[in-house]
Amino acid sequence: MSWESSLEYYRIINQAVKKKLGGLHSAKSILYSVDFEVIEKLQHQGDWEELTKIMVESAQRLESAGADMIVICTNTMHKMAEDMEKHINVPLLHIADATALKIKDYGLKKIGLLGTKFTMEQDFYKGRLINNYGLEVIVPDTKERQIIHDIIYNELCLGEIKESSKISYIKVIDNLEKNGAEGVILGCTEIPLLIKQTDVKIPLFDTTKIHAEFAVDFSIK
Ligand code: GLU
Repeated sequence: MSWESSLEYYRIINQAVKKKLGGLHSAKSILYSVDFEVIEKLQHQGDWEELTKIMVESAQRLESAGADMIVICTNTMHKMAEDMEKHINVPLLHIADATALKIKDYGLKKIGLLGTKFTMEQDFYKGRLINNYGLEVIVPDTKERQIIHDIIYNELCLGEIKESSKISYIKVIDNLEKNGAEGVILGCTEIPLLIKQTDVKIPLFDTTKIHAEFAVDFSIK
């Protein structure tokens, strides 16, 4: 979606392939890159129908171009994952599945979720973590959710990394911990550009890295 995080996917996938296969190996991949201005407008207008059309068509184009599997390089747009799956014949590797499996590996149960308001407030993501993996998911309060959301769209998706925003995020993460979170999902693929594990003590789950590496493991297997 925003190319700021697509770039991270591309880098992480190629680095993971190089680490696993050595030499000059890199990932055979096809990138369908969107105009994020169009996507963001439709999201905030609530036009999920048009967005579903765009996502289904994009997935079909990737499949026709020869992709053996598909990853959507964002958490939010997994809102359309099930509709996309109905229209393609190759696996779609779901970011919430990859993340939940990693959280389970750590043996954690109660988890905080940061992401866009769509991801934090709607059921398509949280519901999957709760119903399919038995996790307990908590999100920041209304005011904090707005802060997290605004920083994503007004700064991170534009490649702006500000110290003041990092401080705001750390405060929200601290509050999630106070409310019992044992770990926090960075459930927006641009958040890892701002927040690193070294910024806080609580375990962080970087969905960009987890998802990209999951795709590499899956494809090599
Ligand atoms: N990349 C972000 C996410 O992971 C937000 C931008 C988008 O809507 O894709 O949710």
